[in-house]
Amino acid sequence: MKVKHTDSYYAASRNQQFDFPKLMGDHVADVCVIGSGITGATAALELANKGFKVIVLEANRVGWGASGRSGGQAIFGWASEQDTLEKLVGKSDARKLWDISVEALALTKSNINKYSIDCDWRDGMVHVGVKPRHDKELKAWYDDLTENYGYESLEMWDQEKTHHHIASKKYTSGMFDSNSGHLHPLNYTLGLVNAAKQAGAEFYEDSAVTKIEHGDPATLFTKNGTVKANHVILACNAYMDGLETKLENKVMPVGTYICATEPLGEDFTGALMKDHIAACDINFVLDYFRCSGDHRMLFGGRVSYSGVAPFNLEKAMRGRMVDIFPQLSDAKIDYAWGGNVAITMNRAPHFGRLKPNVYFAQGFSGHGIAATGWQAH
Ligand SMILES: Cc1cc2nc3c(=O)[nH]c(=O)nc-3n(C[C@H](O)[C@H](O)[C@H](O)COP(=O)(O)OP(=O)(O)OC[C@H]3O[C@@H](n4cnc5c(N)ncnc54)[C@H](O)[C@@H]3O)c2cc1C
Repeated sequence: MKVKHTDSYYAASRNQQFDFPKLMGDHVADVCVIGSGITGATAALELANKGFKVIVLEANRVGWGASGRSGGQAIFGWASEQDTLEKLVGKSDARKLWDISVEALALTKSNINKYSIDCDWRDGMVHVGVKPRHDKELKAWYDDLTENYGYESLEMWDQEKTHHHIASKKYTSGMFDSNSGHLHPLNYTLGLVNAAKQAGAEFYEDSAVTKIEHGDPATLFTKNGTVKANHVILACNAYMDGLETKLENKVMPVGTYICATEPLGEDFTGALMKDHIAACDINFVLDYFRCSGDHRMLFGGRVSYSGVAPFNLEKAMRGRMVDIFPQLSDAKIDYAWGGNVAITMNRAPHFGRLKPNVYFAQGFSGHGIAATGWQAH
């Protein structure tokens, strides 16, 4: 029996259903992609469009990992802020990384349009502060991005304006970006998978790669089959599970959680969050939230470093949500779920080559919805 998608609002509202076969027997490919989240699906799509023979091997189901469970907020920049990147790689390369992140957002929107992906995209996302120190940090961030990076879609909100957009008394300021936005991450991923399939990529589910014999070509082994491939792309992020320990040791899988209320109606959610924007605070352990296409509150937060979900997840998530929005104290929770993000030590992403013909991308540190797509294209 194939593993199901995790029981979430996204799985319940997915608009495409795939049932790809298990890899059986011996195959050859120009490129073998391991993992079918946004990273793997985008890589497969781009390469198949260029005429390469692509095989995607997925241990579970397409979109089963973080890409199918995520908060769905597609945001500029990286989890490590620009000043950290400047210290790590210098100003010039930090600038290139910044440009990549902005291009990644454009690519996400362009993929949605080009491949007609029905994934509830909405423009607008705000980072909010909860205390005077945050207000200063947000203002300094805004100044840096507008003055040094020329990013023009930002707006600073004072407490009143923030409250006008988000009906919670908790927030003291906001940095709004009209260029960021949010989407249904599983439907986006499945839309990419569908486009890649139509471009000729072959997908196999329930086909965990258990070993890679490096060489030219490399040979990848699953329980019932093999793929000989000239190039390999590792797109396993926080779910690699022992395949390449050298890479796996560079990231820490950290659990993060989301709950979805019952549908609340457009008027109710529109009053909670004006213009259907997404929001995220800037605490170290942050709350992130937005309303779904069918007008539920999707409220995310909490972390688990042990991989064990909080006891009574639904109750734990409800507590956080009602603390921010007491208006939701009577709302029924229909779903609560979690997934792993891959955190690097400095929160900068980790991508590159493991061998001359083996590429990898991981460690998006909770900031991968847009970025995963760019580095794979
Ligand atoms: C709850 C949650 C909320 C999040 N919220 C946000 C957000 O709001 N904004 C944002 O930007 N980011 C967010 N993220 C992070 C974002 O979702 C990830 O950065 C991104 O989806 C990673 O995509 P990926 O394709 O690299 O990995 P994944 O989507 O995790 O895919 C990896 C796939 O590889 C497969 N795999 C692993 N090992 C093997 C193997 N040996 N053989 C075959 N297949 C294998 C797995 O089964 C999995 O399907 C969130 C993540 C979670 C979990």
